[in-house]
Amino acid sequence: MNTKNIFQKIIKKKISAEIIYQDKKITAFNDISPRAPIHIIIIPNNFIKNINYIDKKNLNILSYMMYKSIKIAKNKKIHKSGYRIVINCNKNGGQTIPYLHIHLLGGKKLQNF
Ligand code: 5GP
Repeated sequence: MNTKNIFQKIIKKKISAEIIYQDKKITAFNDISPRAPIHIIIIPNNFIKNINYIDKKNLNILSYMMYKSIKIAKNKKIHKSGYRIVINCNKNGGQTIPYLHIHLLGGKKLQNF
């Protein structure tokens, strides 16, 4: 299975993941290898390879992903203690899955960088 397909299969529920939110546009699920007590991945249901492929035409989906990430942070009650939103891009950015995704991390004091 190629790595892009992992996230596509999670959306279609062909491989198991702890999906915590899904609607017509996005899917959010727990990271399989969490780096914080809360580590949720938020992806668009329609494939976008990485943030370089965001343009004027599809900008709405990125703002919707951000909006829903904030909503999830509030639902998980980490909004007051704080959290981090990360988008890795390509090799130097540390992107291992070539499918646009937001990392939502919280539940502990994260290291500064
Ligand atoms: P990246 O390194 O591309 O920014 O992030 C990819 C993330 O996807 C990693 O944090 C990794 O742990 C997570 N991940 C990779 N494969 C799976 C999987 O099969 N299921 C889930 N739930 N997360 C995955």
